[in-house]
Amino acid sequence: MTELSAMILDRIRDVPDYPQPGVMFKDITPLLADPVAMAAVVEELAGLHQVDKIVGIEARGFILAAPVAYRAGAGFVPVRKKGKLPAATLEESYDLEYGSATIEVHRDAFAPGDRVLIVDDVLATGGTAKAAVDLVERAGATVAGLAVLMELAFLKGRDRLTGVDLHSLVIV
Ligand code: AMP
Repeated sequence: MTELSAMILDRIRDVPDYPQPGVMFKDITPLLADPVAMAAVVEELAGLHQVDKIVGIEARGFILAAPVAYRAGAGFVPVRKKGKLPAATLEESYDLEYGSATIEVHRDAFAPGDRVLIVDDVLATGGTAKAAVDLVERAGATVAGLAVLMELAFLKGRDRLTGVDLHSLVIV
């Protein structure tokens, strides 16, 4: 394990049975509160790919993606839950354990051929990340990579992301 991975793992707190029984929630707030660890994370993510835009997935992805975009000299683009973006959007729906979810991006968020890094906190089943990849591509951009702080390997989200350059700073 790298020094960075160990630092991240040490600052992500397990909260059992949140938001529902049986779920082990990975709470990144201790990491966010540590400026040295955050600087190291931002530096790592900003150096992964040469890109035009950094996409953050609502909500915790926003917190990570915005400083990465600033550090990389790239634009920030939000992918939001349905109904939150004010202008014309593209949307993508995906299945959850119970029901489904829909995420959106502004139709004009990207210039044609923009290269994009997508950022989120946790990769679980991969449904959210796959929908974000599809959304970005439908909006005319190219997904250079997808980065998460933590991948929950037992949920096999990686298997839904074939062809995507996935960077997980910690795999548990
Ligand atoms: P999934 O679509 O199943 O890969 O879920 C990923 C999304 O849900 C990410 O935006 C995560 O923030 C959130 N998420 C899923 N499972 C967890 C977990 N155990 N702890 C924290 N966040 C999670």
